[in-house]
Amino acid sequence: MLRVGLTGGIGAGKSTVANRLAEHGAVLVDSDRIAREVVEPGTPGLAAIVEAFGQDVLAEDGSLNRPALAAKAFADEESRRRLNGIVHPLVGARTAELMAEAAPDAVVVHDIPLLVEGNLAPAYHLVVIVDAPVEVRVRRLVEVRGMAEEDARARIRAQAGDAARRAVADVWLDNGGAQDIVLAEVDALWADRLVPFEANVRLRRPRAPMSPVIAPCDPTWPMQAERQLARLRQAGGDRLLRADHIGSTSVPGLPAKDVLDLQILVPTLVDADALAGPLGDAGFPLLEGEWADTPKDDGTAPWPKRLHVGADPERAVNVHVRSPETPAWRLALLFRDWLRAHPQEQDAYAELKQQLASKHAADGRVEGYAEEKQGWVRSAFDRAEVWAAQNSWTP
Ligand code: ADP
Repeated sequence: MLRVGLTGGIGAGKSTVANRLAEHGAVLVDSDRIAREVVEPGTPGLAAIVEAFGQDVLAEDGSLNRPALAAKAFADEESRRRLNGIVHPLVGARTAELMAEAAPDAVVVHDIPLLVEGNLAPAYHLVVIVDAPVEVRVRRLVEVRGMAEEDARARIRAQAGDAARRAVADVWLDNGGAQDIVLAEVDALWADRLVPFEANVRLRRPRAPMSPVIAPCDPTWPMQAERQLARLRQAGGDRLLRADHIGSTSVPGLPAKDVLDLQILVPTLVDADALAGPLGDAGFPLLEGEWADTPKDDGTAPWPKRLHVGADPERAVNVHVRSPETPAWRLALLFRDWLRAHPQEQDAYAELKQQLASKHAADGRVEGYAEEKQGWVRSAFDRAEVWAAQNSWTP
């Protein structure tokens, strides 16, 4: 099963996108609808609200009088909290129930207006944000939905801002233009990403390996890494000592293969093995095989680790699961911090990578590329250690 979180400001076109995904076969879980259902007449939810706020929050037909409730519940912070304390757990339970009912091979799309405000992004394999310029949204809400303009503006103001949305968006759909345009993007998203992503997660199948092509530095790499780290932290729970972005994409300015290398540190490799299932569920299946780092060529025994690979066909992620039983985790962080502090070393490293990538472009051998790069990296470790000692660097 693939869990997709879908959100966006009011009037941006969330429902439009959700409906198109449903036409393709996605299972829709609609938060607004659930929020209404759990307080319908005859529900324990409505009874609890009446008990908390009094009979006068009911309309004559016994249904919830929303404006009357709003007047009471939004009067002060304590009342607001009391209402949320009633409604949120009910919505959460019903949402979990609907998700659990979905077929094992379902793409579940959770249409949830408060995904960003509630910090819920890490619970999804993929977060899709639908956006449109404020003025366009206001016009749609007024003209198509018949909302009062002031009301539309007030609601837009109360929602998360652009930066917060950008930070969690794995997919950003711009719906400022004609509907056909966004619907075509949704069709491609379904076929090229959601369908193969779902199969990969269900079958615990890592995405296909990348050929060693060096891309110019993408300034959004750190932000992208942060999104994946949040998922890993949630999946790893208490077993995680720390989780970091490492490798070339963690060094601003450095050209690199478009792969996010992430490192999670667990007390022992027994813990790493216990995480194989949870990480797989979260979209990072284990890459079978005996993996080890060989940072030294002086006969030191290799340092074993576990390797997980992101299942998203459009976002390459390697997750190195290491433990303090070996020094490899520390070296990974040292190498990153040392490179960040040494622009000339970055240039030398970039040039070497470019040479090796061209050399191996013909044979397509990722392994050949990695082996040859290791020589330079080993000597760099020595220089980095000197720098670490001089600067009292700690991981
Ligand atoms: P949301 O669910 O994000 O609040 P909707 O999907 O309901 O937004 O869209 C708001 C209104 O704008 C709807 O009436 C919808 O039909 C209309 N709409 C959506 N996308 C477009 C578009 N690209 N062009 C014009 N109108 C649109």
